[in-house]
Amino acid sequence: MGRDIEATVIIAKCGKIKKTYGIRLERRKHEWYRTWAFKINEKSAEREGFNKTVINGKFTASEEYNGCPHCFGREFIKCGCGKISCWNGENIIKCVWCGARGEISRVDKIELNSSVNF
Ligand SMILES: [Zn+2]
Ligand SMILES: [Zn+2]
Repeated sequence: MGRDIEATVIIAKCGKIKKTYGIRLERRKHEWYRTWAFKINEKSAEREGFNKTVINGKFTASEEYNGCPHCFGREFIKCGCGKISCWNGENIIKCVWCGARGEISRVDKIELNSSVNF
């Protein structure tokens, strides 16, 4: 009998080099934690359904979280378009997904289309 681990993956894009990556989230008690980030191209991520993940919560970085696989950043932001990208401390941000400027706040909640488990 293994321990039941509830985990999911969300997709993010690096603001520096504009490549996608996946972030694995694991539920521990009542909170979601980011445990691992890995390179994945946008097409594969969509095929896996990672672009449809719904997570509510803060998803703090866990101690073992390795950061963005492209720029190694551990912080990220969510645009009004619902997408996630790296945040490296810039004051003025342009969303690498939709091109919007401003209106970007630090992530504490993700709500996209449907949930996925693996
Ligand atoms: Zn990055
Ligand atoms: Zn956007």
